[in-house]
Amino acid sequence: MKRLHHNRWCLMLVALLLGSGGVSRTQQVQICTEDSFTPNYISQLPALLRWRSLPIKVYFVRDDHYTARRQQLAVEGFNKWVHITNKRLQFSLVESEREAQLLVRFDPSTRAGRTEYTYYPERREIVRAEMVVGVQGDSAVDIQSVAIHEFGHALGITGHSDEPNDVMYPRYKVGTLVSITARDLNTVKTAYCELFDGGKPVPLPERTRGLPSSRDEPRKGRIVCDEPQSAH
Ligand SMILES: [Zn+2]
Repeated sequence: MKRLHHNRWCLMLVALLLGSGGVSRTQQVQICTEDSFTPNYISQLPALLRWRSLPIKVYFVRDDHYTARRQQLAVEGFNKWVHITNKRLQFSLVESEREAQLLVRFDPSTRAGRTEYTYYPERREIVRAEMVVGVQGDSAVDIQSVAIHEFGHALGITGHSDEPNDVMYPRYKVGTLVSITARDLNTVKTAYCELFDGGKPVPLPERTRGLPSSRDEPRKGRIVCDEPQSAH
């Protein structure tokens, strides 16, 4: 039943060459299917999205709930994804909201997090996202756990895993730092197929070049995650 609304998909990704040398004759796309990197939980997700370019520009909104400590803990959480992907997925901090692609705020009224994103459904590309990290209790471990989980959403995992050990399980345990599993990693690797060995190289189709087609209108999505389980 889980697969009822799940369209078997294959992700076509343009392997943009670094530099601005134009279209090279060696330019290819890789196609990843949900079987390219296993185990994963792609079949449980409404969609698997990606950013068109990296690093993702991140701005921490300086409102009443901002503190340098909270930012540091969130950054440490985000960096877990950077390290586990051998820096193939990266973010950079920017100093103004205007430059940012991903805005981060803190919310002391909850221990949960939430992420909203604007995306092109046809191209499966995120263009902007906003994240709220619940900081109720101000526990270093819990803030990091929320940040790791929400950054998984921000990278393009638009749903949750049903396996409690995965970072993308909707509910973490208070006082226990979550860790990214092979299933989490494989799911993200599939979205960013061209950055990892494992997809099938094929010639670049003309229709994937250029800007999104006019009928590929941006849409908004929102993921609200659960409050954690208390430690006993
Ligand atoms: Zn979540």
